[in-house]
Amino acid sequence: MMKLKTKINLFSTLLTLLIMATSFTSIFLVYKQFAFQTEYTQLQNRADELMSTISKVDTSIDISSFLRAYIPSNGALRIVDENDKQLIYMQATTTVERIPFTLEKGADYTISSWKDTPVISMNYPLLWPTGEIVTLELVEPLYGIAQNIALLKWILIAMALIAIVPIYLASSVLAGVIAKPIQQLTTTMQQNIKTNRYEQLPLKENKKDEIAEMTTTYNALMHRLEDNYMKQQQFVGNASHELKTPLTVIESYAKLLQRRGFQNEQVAYEALTAITKETANMQDMITQMLQLASVNETIEINLATTHIEPLLQEITATMQQAYAREVRIQGQNFILTTDAVKLKQLLYIFVDNARKYSEQPIIITMKPTKQIIIQDEGQGIPKKDLPHLFERFYRVDKARSRKTGGTGLGLAIAKELADLLNLDIEVNSTVGVGTTITISAKEVIIRE
Ligand code: ADP
Repeated sequence: MMKLKTKINLFSTLLTLLIMATSFTSIFLVYKQFAFQTEYTQLQNRADELMSTISKVDTSIDISSFLRAYIPSNGALRIVDENDKQLIYMQATTTVERIPFTLEKGADYTISSWKDTPVISMNYPLLWPTGEIVTLELVEPLYGIAQNIALLKWILIAMALIAIVPIYLASSVLAGVIAKPIQQLTTTMQQNIKTNRYEQLPLKENKKDEIAEMTTTYNALMHRLEDNYMKQQQFVGNASHELKTPLTVIESYAKLLQRRGFQNEQVAYEALTAITKETANMQDMITQMLQLASVNETIEINLATTHIEPLLQEITATMQQAYAREVRIQGQNFILTTDAVKLKQLLYIFVDNARKYSEQPIIITMKPTKQIIIQDEGQGIPKKDLPHLFERFYRVDKARSRKTGGTGLGLAIAKELADLLNLDIEVNSTVGVGTTITISAKEVIIRE
């Protein structure tokens, strides 16, 4: 596996080299082109000069004698007539061999290579003293330019080679700047895993870069994990404590049964009744615990257009059948886009509480504002208990609640369901007068 630092270092070095190579090559090519162009202009000037001289000379004098002055240095000069017949050919004394003249069709000048030297060829129309139009051909080997070009090439290559070192070092520093905080972060995270703790990472203040963002995210994640862990611990603690009570009761009654139940039928009956009741309580509690766990787990909500009135009637029917308690429904039916099964589960918890903690008929009102109000004229809830009502295992009066078979889990489940369905719950209660629960739809959930 290639380290991030190495990757960044290598990549940025190569990229810089590539950019440098491209720009150096361009410099080199532009310089070469410019040098050839300059040479061409010079040759052309020479030809211009020759032209004006020829127009002034006397036809009788020997042209070739002064033409000699116009031979390009180390090069050659040739004059051909319209039929390509050579009239004059002259070459510099320094040159022994004949330099080939190569001019591409339509080009101002052509650079060809001859004996590893660039050679420039160009032509120029001349008005000959005889009145004939001839062509002047000039050819010149560019020794000086060749030398300069070679020198420039080596200078650029050397510069590139020398630059590699600082470029490599600079990109190495850059890679370090990026990779180091990540490495530090990883080290701390690894330590956290080893020590099995939810430690927060130190966050450098006034830093707002991606690393800081990552640190914050990690810390938030750790916080959540710790929170969940604590909650779970607490739940397990509470649950075992809650289960112990009925078990203790069952145990003591079982012992009583063992000691005296065989002689005394009355005692046996009492013990078995208590045991049956406590078993039922425990069963309730376990069912609710499982429910609580599953509410947290279910991500799936089956949204559908739901009529509220039939839903309430179903609940009421159950209530009347099982407990012979009167429940009145009033108000106009309304429609809610929600999960009907979960909403029913939630409403049932509140109606069942109203039944458990009151004797009078329960009144359920449907409001056009998409609210459901459950009212009872029961014992009410003291103000100080209201904030804790939705906590797991919270009961206002433990003794009384145990008698009614309460577990303290009902409202905790209701709260989870309400969050899931995006519902608001409001509790109003006066001790001795009764309790009013208002359930309102925060907003209509629209399925995408
Ligand atoms: P439980 O299973 O004990 O009823 P809940 O979570 O449903 O647990 O309710 C928590 C506590 O809130 C109950 O123990 C009870 O004291 C109180 N409570 C809930 N609803 C009512 C109500 N309608 N009237 C009076 N007290 C209530």
